[in-house]
Amino acid sequence: MAVPFRRTSKTRKRKRRTHYKLTVPGMVRCPQCGEMKLSHRICKECGYYKGSEVVGD
Ligand SMILES: [Zn+2]
Repeated sequence: MAVPFRRTSKTRKRKRRTHYKLTVPGMVRCPQCGEMKLSHRICKECGYYKGSEVVGD
């Protein structure tokens, strides 16, 4: 098995990982409460969708 000639520097490693996303695609921040939620779904934290409350507590 091939062995890398030089070790990957911290900078190089970090630059490579800038493409790694923290959240799953389709997750957006709720404009009502700021929690992460799935887009086109009601927010499970506050029950809001498109600026109005759909489900109460
Ligand atoms: Zn919310």
